[in-house]
Parts: sequence; C-alpha cells; structure tokens
Amino acid sequence: MKLTVAIDGPAAAGKGTISKAVAREFGLAHLDTGLLYRAVGAKVLAGAAPVEAAEALVPADLAPEDALRTPDVAQAASRVAADPEVRAKLLEFQRNFARREGGAVLDGRDIGTVICPDAEVKLFVTASAEARAERRYKELIGNGHEVTPEQVLADVKARDARDAGRDAAPMVAAEDAVMLDTTELSIAEALDRARECIRLKIK
Ligand code: C5P
Repeated sequence: MKLTVAIDGPAAAGKGTISKAVAREFGLAHLDTGLLYRAVGAKVLAGAAPVEAAEALVPADLAPEDALRTPDVAQAASRVAADPEVRAKLLEFQRNFARREGGAVLDGRDIGTVICPDAEVKLFVTASAEARAERRYKELIGNGHEVTPEQVLADVKARDARDAGRDAAPMVAAEDAVMLDTTELSIAEALDRARECIRLKIK
C-alpha cells in the first residue's frame, strides 16, 4: 500500500498530535518535516551556511528533538525555510519518505501543495493565533522554557507571516485539502475528524 497522508497548517494548530496519532492507528510511518528545517536552523545558529547545512543533513541531526523545539530554533527554521535552495535540498528525502511501502503521514507547511501534490489524503489543520499561542505557551513552560504569553503570541504571528508570505512554497491549503479548524475542538474531537477523512479515502 502506498497511502500518503499530507497534514499541513501553521505552528501549534495540532498537526503534530494528529499526525502521530493517525500514523499509529493506521500503521503508517510518520515524518515531522518541521524537524528538517529546525535541524538546518540549529546548524545555522551554530555558524553553518544554510544550503550546505541542508545538503549535509543526516537522520541523526533530527534526534535531539528537545534541543530543536526551542523558540530560537523555530524562528531560525522559519528563516532558512524561505530559501528555495534549502527547500530543494530537502525535497527528495521527503518525497521518498512519502512513497515508502506501507504508507506515510507527513506534516508540515507545503506537503499537500509541493512535496506530495498527489497525496491520497490532505488535511489543513488550523486554529486562531491566540489559541495556538496559548497551547505553545503551555508546552514551552512545561518544558522549562522562560517565555511570556505575549512573546509566544508575537513569535507565532511572526512565523505565520513569514511562512505564508514567502515566495518559495508558502504555507497555503491545497485546493483539495479538507480544512480542520481546531480552535474550539478538543484533541479527541480533532482526531475523530482526521480519522474520518482517512477512513473515507481508504475504503
Ligand atoms: O512545524 P514546525 O513549527 O516545527 O516548523 C518549523 C518551521 O519550519 C516553520 O515555521 C516553517 O518555516 C518551516 N517548515 C516549512 N515547511 C515544512 C515544515 C516546516 O517551511 N514542510
């Protein structure tokens, strides 16, 4: 089976939670493509050149997940992600992952539009900036980061603007994506809807 599930949307909308859960339930491999850009961003913060860092990326670079999930690395990721050459270096790995035997779920910003335009299932998961910032704030505080709610909201909005406004593979819902607004939904409700979309497609 070569089922590809593409899950796109802005930061902290619930893509990660939904992707991991449906991958587990449907027995699909999962790739959080944001980690690729975060790993490149982290290397750039450490002094590397963006395109070279993307070219030299190896799976082990994605392993220190906690270190990649900081606000500074998120902003650095969003900056390197605007460079079309960086994106080009990461394209083939993502496409190969998407078409692996057994099927795959990829979450990111351009999966349904650029990486896997032929994905069998496309979801665009969104929520208000305020709801997303509140979730991200709780997550960061829970992980010991010192941030304020105002800072997190400003970061979320800055990243949204950069990700949606760039020329290279901007964050946008594919025309054939199912929209899932999680502002007022519990995790269980959001998951139910995502699950339903996948079931309809694989019937
Ligand atoms: O999803 P996450 O918040 O970890 O992504 C970090 C950054 O990586 C995003 O703000 C975005 O700029 C970039 N990204 C991207 N395309 C993807 C996944 C992430 O441009 N498919």
